[in-house]
Amino acid sequence: MRKNIVAGNWKMNKTLQEGVALAAELKDVLAGKTPNCDVVIGTPFIHLATVANQVEGSVIKVAAQNCANKESGAYTGEVSAAMVKSTGATYVILGHSERREYYGETSAILNDKVALALSNGLTPIYCCGEALDVRNANTQNEFVKNQLEETIFNLSAEDFQKLVIAYEPIWAIGTGVTASTEQAQEMLAFIRSIIADKFGKEIAENTSILYGGSCNAKNASELFAQPDIDGGLIGGASLKAADFVAIIDAF
Ligand code: PEP
Repeated sequence: MRKNIVAGNWKMNKTLQEGVALAAELKDVLAGKTPNCDVVIGTPFIHLATVANQVEGSVIKVAAQNCANKESGAYTGEVSAAMVKSTGATYVILGHSERREYYGETSAILNDKVALALSNGLTPIYCCGEALDVRNANTQNEFVKNQLEETIFNLSAEDFQKLVIAYEPIWAIGTGVTASTEQAQEMLAFIRSIIADKFGKEIAENTSILYGGSCNAKNASELFAQPDIDGGLIGGASLKAADFVAIIDAF
């Protein structure tokens, strides 16, 4: 049975103190609730251990926004999947379009990151999604299919079932332009259909697929009501507790 998930991606925002305060506020607000979804917050690396410790005992789970494509060693500035796991984080966002675009993350690099995340017991939230020119050319399905075929479709069925997919059209990230409910549902249904072709219907039905891109308190209920949308990966609207909780409450 697939899970509903609302996952925040704080990106490079919040000092440690600000992040701890936001996590504390979220923990307080959620203490009296039983959300109809799993709640994840994706913090910068330096926040992970403190925030994971702070939200312990609550419904909130913690994600890193990246991990290294190497196991350990002389890779100055990198943070390994094992290090992420040791903080108490249980998820890792991989393949975000900002990582692909600004830090040159290729499919080959992402395959190594996914493998290391899985072997260290982290759940990857694996991002895919097309740029505006691809959407304008109406070739988004082929583009996303190719992104998945080059990476997570190489996994064994057993490993594939351990990850979450987030479809994030680049033209909708941080722009205030959300994919329409129809566009989002159509793409997530397409992704589920190609998972079914590759791994079978049962695995496809059990895979959580999230939508990301300017999702907010206003549009979340309509998006989450779609049959193939199992939640959201939330950037800007995860930076304020009230906004993020309103999205959680949309389930
Ligand atoms: C994101 O970058 O993962 C994202 C969805 O950002 P925003 O919600 O700000 O569009």
